[in-house]
Amino acid sequence: MNASDSEKIETILKKKRHKKSEVIESANILVINCCSVRQAAMDRVFGLIHKWKDKKKIILAGCLLESDRKRMKERGIKFLYPDEYFFSLPCRLKKFRATVPIMTGCDNFCSYCVVPYSRGREKSRKSEEILKEIKCLIKNGCKEITLLGQNVNSYRDGKTDFPKLLKKINSLPGDFWIRFMTSHPKDMSDDLIGAIARSKKVCEYVHLPIQAGSDEILTKMNRKYSAKDYLKLIDKIRTAFRKYKPDIPFALSTDIIVGFPGETKKQFAESADIMKGVGFDMIYIGEYSPRVGTAAWKMTDDVSRNEKTRRKKLLDKILKKTALANNKFYIGLVQKILVESEKKGFYFGKNRTMKDVRFQSDRRNLIGQFAKVKIMKASAWNLEGKVEG
Ligand code: SAH
Ligand code: SF4
Repeated sequence: MNASDSEKIETILKKKRHKKSEVIESANILVINCCSVRQAAMDRVFGLIHKWKDKKKIILAGCLLESDRKRMKERGIKFLYPDEYFFSLPCRLKKFRATVPIMTGCDNFCSYCVVPYSRGREKSRKSEEILKEIKCLIKNGCKEITLLGQNVNSYRDGKTDFPKLLKKINSLPGDFWIRFMTSHPKDMSDDLIGAIARSKKVCEYVHLPIQAGSDEILTKMNRKYSAKDYLKLIDKIRTAFRKYKPDIPFALSTDIIVGFPGETKKQFAESADIMKGVGFDMIYIGEYSPRVGTAAWKMTDDVSRNEKTRRKKLLDKILKKTALANNKFYIGLVQKILVESEKKGFYFGKNRTMKDVRFQSDRRNLIGQFAKVKIMKASAWNLEGKVEG
């Protein structure tokens, strides 16, 4: 979401004839697009402000807490408030990969999370506006569209809900891929699972955050589902992909928080067991960070830093194993790759399931194009192959 906000800020500034600096040192205005989800990121923001405040004009944007806003205001820092205009501003940058926000904000109030406070309540964009932006991006050569929102699957514009929106985008002409993030398990309907699996342009990749494997912790987190409900969803997604896209690999990823207040070793082991059982391709593991103003702020942050790190490392280990096992499946398969960079005689890109793929080719100027690559080697974090076309 922040990357998408940054693109919009870039569009606004370019319109006003500002030029983008390659390094901070040469800039005279510093726009810092904040993320308040964890304290560590905000600490880095405060560090940047401290370093540059006397030398540059600083503007803060993005996801900010009221208390931090006040603190900064006292120091004369300016803010860029995302309003209706900002939200609907189409990204005019010519890119082969683009992010398109479809909704913002959140109504779910998970007990640890600042998003409902920093980004406000859920707001969906008009579907015609989204379709118009996507048509324009495709006309300009865009090959991958990622639909964004704190909870894309609670998107609604009149009669157009998220499955309907996906179908409409899928039926636009052109050779392009559709991705989306993030989805909340409580809104992962059968209709949506069907739409994902049936739509040819929608990539076979589902990111579905579980956050914890213990039902007691899930209740304390206010997530509104149990571990069993989550596993049922994973089963449904698997069944739908096997039915509508047989023989095509698909990938699953999740977010998980370790060391939520009161999380015992036994409760953590439930998270670890689910990670092993599902066999995710990717897990974004976050150590719990207390956020002022949230419901969990009042709970005692009683899992030590060391213990949180130990738990994170344990999950990292599990992920490395499951990711490697999944990646081996690709050996011998021909995959369509969206090429993103070139370095030292190799091209780098991603396939539909978000795997990083490295390959060589005699063809020039492949960046931003699709290539067909036969996968020859697999490690936990990437695939290697040779070009077929
Ligand atoms: N709407 C999405 C998540 C958006 S926030 C969902 O419901 O799943 C992105 C991720 O940040 C979350 O999935 C969570 O794992 C992490 N996160 C949010 N607040 C956090 C906190 N206080 N400490 C640690 N991780 C946090
Ligand atoms: Fe909303 Fe996701 Fe944050 Fe929960 S974790 S409050 S669903 S943004």
